Parts: sequence; structure tokens; C-alpha cells
Amino acid sequence: MKLGVMGGTFDPIHHGHLVTAEEARVQFGLERVLFLPNRHPPHKDPADVTDPEDRYLMTFLATVSNPHFSVSRIEIDRPGASYTIETIRALAARHPDAELHYITGADAILQIMRGEWEQSPELLGMCQFIAATRPGFTLDLQTLRGSNCTGRTLDNVHVMEIPALAISSTDIRSRVRTGRPIKYLVPEAVEAYIAKRNLYGWLTPSGSAARG
Ligand code: NAP
Repeated sequence: MKLGVMGGTFDPIHHGHLVTAEEARVQFGLERVLFLPNRHPPHKDPADVTDPEDRYLMTFLATVSNPHFSVSRIEIDRPGASYTIETIRALAARHPDAELHYITGADAILQIMRGEWEQSPELLGMCQFIAATRPGFTLDLQTLRGSNCTGRTLDNVHVMEIPALAISSTDIRSRVRTGRPIKYLVPEAVEAYIAKRNLYGWLTPSGSAARG
């Protein structure tokens, strides 16, 4: 069984993430994709990241309508920094017959190549990696080889260009802060959740109506 594992901070989750997961599912013949919102991204100050439960709930709302998607609390419930290697080990033990495909942004895959993640070489040997790139971000085999100081071959690293990844969480947060629309960038339920919980400096309910 091929299982997709979609790791991210999802602050917030948007249609670029959803298109990426669905594209990976079809291209790589994944039976399902498990979304893994993290608790504490190791490379970020927790004060700069939205509460994990809010990010978990937005991920749940965004994925609920796709029968092939589900959301795991494995990182949300584990205290401390969300090291991916611990997650992959736990998932491999929980799904011994599954071939895991870790899907995330191309920047993250390059960080692993440069050895910047916890136990990068071991991690790189543990599953398949699908690196999603935005338009204008070139990630080819040469770039990967040039960054690779892990001593591992790259046979298990795959690149997927996703035009919809022109959408970014950073841009969405900035749009909310400055009163610009996020409709059609995120699922409706996520937009409603952001407004209801007043995330990212959402102005007022009347402001939200004006955006519609
Ligand atoms: P990030 O550094 O905020 O994002 C880097 C880029 O990748 C951004 O452009 C981001 O776009 C994109 N991206 C992130 N997740 C994606 C996904 N699932 N599919 C497509 N694009 C994605 O990344 P992050 O979300 O905080 O971290 C990515 C994953 O790496 C997380 O699961 C994190 O826990 C893990 N990580 C682990 C370690 C470690 O184990 N030491 C260290 C660093 C990160 P958006 O901003 O639009 O999402």
C-alpha cells in the first residue's frame, strides 16, 4: 500500500496544498494522503505560528470532502519540536506494510539535502520524497545533486511542479491583515474559520462582508 504523508505548518492550509496532495495521489498511485499539521515547526519560533489546534481544525475542514484525505494528530499531540524523522518512524511502525511518500515543499527537501533537519541522512533513506515546487522555482536533478551532502542516492526523491502553489500561506496571512480577499485561495470553511476565530488580524465581521 502506498501512503502519502503531507507534512506542513498549514498556517493556513490553502488550495495550493490541496491540489498538491491530490496531484501526488494520482501521479504516484497513493491509496490515501494523510495530512500532518505540525505542533512546533523546528525551524520557526512558536510565537510566530498560529495555535496548533486552529491549524489542525482548518486542515480538517479543508480535507473533509475528499474521501482519500485524512488528518493525523500525531505531530499535534507530540510535545516539543515536530521532528519529521520521529513522525516517519512512528508511521512506519503503525503501517508496516505501507510505502510512505512524504510530500512537502521543495525548500524543505533542499534543507534535508543540506543536512539541516534532524538526522537528515537517515530520514532520506526512510521513505519516498515528493518535492512540490511553485512556478518560477526550478528544482531539477542538478540542483538536488548540488545540494546533496547526505551521502544518499536520490532515487527516492521526486519533483512535482504545481502551478496552484503560486498561492502561499504567507500571502494569505498578509491579505487578511490588510483586508484583501482570500476567497478562492482557501476553502470556504477555512475562510469562515479564519473570520470566526479572528486569525491573522481579521478586521471585523463587516470587513469580512465587504471582502465577499
Ligand atoms: P515552510 O518552511 O513554511 O515552507 C517552505 C515552503 O514550502 C513554503 O513555500 C511553503 O508554502 C511550502 N510548503 C510547506 N508545506 C508544503 C506542502 N505540504 N506542500 C506544498 N508546499 C508546502 O514549511 P513548513 O510548512 O513549516 O514545513 C514543511 C514540513 O517540514 C513540516 O511538516 C515541518 O514540520 C517539516 N520540517 C521538519 C524539520 C525537521 O524535522 N528538523 C525542519 C523543518 C521543517 P506555504 O507557506 O504556502 O505552506
